[in-house]
Amino acid sequence: MTGNFEIAVFQGDGIGPEIMAPTVEILRRLADANPRYGLTFTDAPAGAAHYAKTGESFPDQSMKVARRADAILLSAMGLPDVRYADGTEISPQIDLRKRLGLFAGVRPVTVKAGQETPLAMPEGKEIDFVLIRESTEGLFFTQGSGEVTKDEARETLLITRDVSEKLFRFAFQLAKGRKDAGRGPGRVTCVDKANVFRAFAFFRSMFDAEAAQHPGLSADHAYVDATALWMVQKPWEFDVLVTENMFGDILSDLGAGLMGGLGLAPSADIGLEHAVFQPCHGSAPDIAGQGLANPFAMILSAAMMLEWLGLTHENEDIAADGARLREAVEGVVASRNCLTRDLGGTAGTDAAASAVMEALTA
Ligand code: NAD
Repeated sequence: MTGNFEIAVFQGDGIGPEIMAPTVEILRRLADANPRYGLTFTDAPAGAAHYAKTGESFPDQSMKVARRADAILLSAMGLPDVRYADGTEISPQIDLRKRLGLFAGVRPVTVKAGQETPLAMPEGKEIDFVLIRESTEGLFFTQGSGEVTKDEARETLLITRDVSEKLFRFAFQLAKGRKDAGRGPGRVTCVDKANVFRAFAFFRSMFDAEAAQHPGLSADHAYVDATALWMVQKPWEFDVLVTENMFGDILSDLGAGLMGGLGLAPSADIGLEHAVFQPCHGSAPDIAGQGLANPFAMILSAAMMLEWLGLTHENEDIAADGARLREAVEGVVASRNCLTRDLGGTAGTDAAASAVMEALTA
């Protein structure tokens, strides 16, 4: 199918606009070269700098743009020095997750041959798995409203059937897509703590029920503590991991560590009708305005967006461009020719983004 897609663009704070500009430029060039899909970009102002300027952190009009758009591209939001009166930070990205019901936090972890990683990789092994973090409930359910007295503090972990069933369905669909694309064996691992908590036994029972619907895929379970160990000892054995919010929060940073840092970690927050694509890192105010920011995680997030649009709209061209864009970044990183400072190189934002553009057109 052909299609024209509207992308809501949250430029964000700090390095946000610096990494968003070359990313949108790359997307424009890809779309201009392909008659079978089009992209239009609509700015959605929000964030800490916007709040400092206008007293509004997330204007209704920006929420309208996000709801209307086919996909949402977001850089990073928040500045440590700009806060609400109660001392908390401005974080429209978290509002988006809640307001749009984005239950599946998708965090790919890839280490290609040649890429720097803190692990001693066995010859011929590459890492390519996806961690799916439930993003609307779990131990984040009482975020900001836990009970604290002089002697006790309580937070509530919530696991619901409604969200878990959607989450597991999504996980198996993703594993099938990866298997069909030759990227994985079609295996989903439920990461939990079902040996100790009844809530996780419940979580696991719903996982098993969904697994039974997918005879062409395999399913297994792992405890979260063992998963942390195996992510260091044998991460190349994973395919799709699905887990609760807090477990996923912690394991996804471990995954970013395997890739050599946050500068290479893309993400997507996906719901039934909407999806936000953004790098895992923050607004890096310490390097903002200096042209030093690594744009790779932002560009990889944009590649995920194209692949997701292709899948959900059955448009093979846009999906193929997403895969090409991902592979172009992976190639630049593996060649180590144009790395930014956080990855041990000397390239600035523009040079790194240009290297990706060149790899695409080579
Ligand atoms: P951060 O990720 O912004 O920065 C941590 C370190 O990593 C810094 O030294 C920074 O320079 C470096 N870094 C991050 N991204 C980089 C990139 N693309 N290229 C090169 N170096 C990079 O985390 P922080 O300092 O804890 O947070 C800064 C602000 O970002 C805070 O206001 C925080 O709330 C916000 N934040 C936003 C998001 C989001 O929008 N999803 C996520 C995390 C933090």
